Amino acid sequence: MDPAALGAYLIEIYLISFPEPVRYSIGWYAGRVFGLVSGSLVLFVLLYEITMLYAQLLRAVLAQRREREARLITGDAVAATIAHEVKQPLSGMITNADAGLRWLDRSTPDLDEAKAAFKKIAADGHRAGAVIGSIRAIFKRDARSRTSLDINDLIGEALVLLRSDLQQHRILVQTEADAQLPQVAGDRIQLQQVLLNLITNAIESMADEDGPRILSVKCEVQDGGVMVSVADTGAGIGVQDVGRIFNPLFTTKSGGMGMGLSICRSIIEAHDGRLLVAPNAPRGAVFQFILAAGTPASAAAS
Ligand code: ADP
Repeated sequence: MDPAALGAYLIEIYLISFPEPVRYSIGWYAGRVFGLVSGSLVLFVLLYEITMLYAQLLRAVLAQRREREARLITGDAVAATIAHEVKQPLSGMITNADAGLRWLDRSTPDLDEAKAAFKKIAADGHRAGAVIGSIRAIFKRDARSRTSLDINDLIGEALVLLRSDLQQHRILVQTEADAQLPQVAGDRIQLQQVLLNLITNAIESMADEDGPRILSVKCEVQDGGVMVSVADTGAGIGVQDVGRIFNPLFTTKSGGMGMGLSICRSIIEAHDGRLLVAPNAPRGAVFQFILAAGTPASAAAS
């Protein structure tokens, strides 16, 4: 019990019982007053303690709810990321399977072309598997799969993978690379996903535009690292959208998921780089990221 309440209670007992006070005397009144004080103090202390207990309980419940919501958000982001990143290899598999079947359906089947299509399907299947593996690494910020990479090779591979989309939309591709480009330390699959996402967005933004459709992918040395720019002559990004295009689930496309740029930014930031956007001249958008040059820490140590 609270010591002040106990003190008041003891004084009250002393005043009212020893010796027995005369009714309405000072001692009698003092006994009543101390009785009131001790009773009120006990009541207030109990009320205070119960209120504190409820406040603690409320804090614990809110913290538990926040933790559960954070887990659900991470779960949503993982599911949306997998769905988004696996879409590209899956559509590649469907396109190649259709092409393979067409080569076989001819009056004289072209087995070599069909074989080439099936090889591409197998490569897409392996890529889908690797993409799922690399998604775990994005969320765990795992740096173990980093190797020394030539970014030009990655750009070349991404353009080959998207060749049929580029041809279908009659897009002219311009590439430019600095001959002195250093190697960068990075996760091959993740950086390839960044290039595929940026180039796919560029294709989609030019697909509905009249006028020349030019995709320009450039690499240059900057601040000792490598700066990669992906520029298009598409619709560009409205001023009202610039601040939110990197937000997860933000999309202006009817069938969009709004995950591509947020995944790209996470990957580039996990590589200690930055992903930026600027308007292209005379129209379109330019996405740029800088990666530090060098070999991965694990390789350098061995
Ligand atoms: P999604 O492609 O599914 O919409 P993203 O995160 O890749 O998701 O892109 C988010 C939004 O950013 C797009 O809906 C589009 O409005 C805008 N955006 C991205 N890249 C470009 C680009 N190259 N040109 C114009 N707008 C773009």
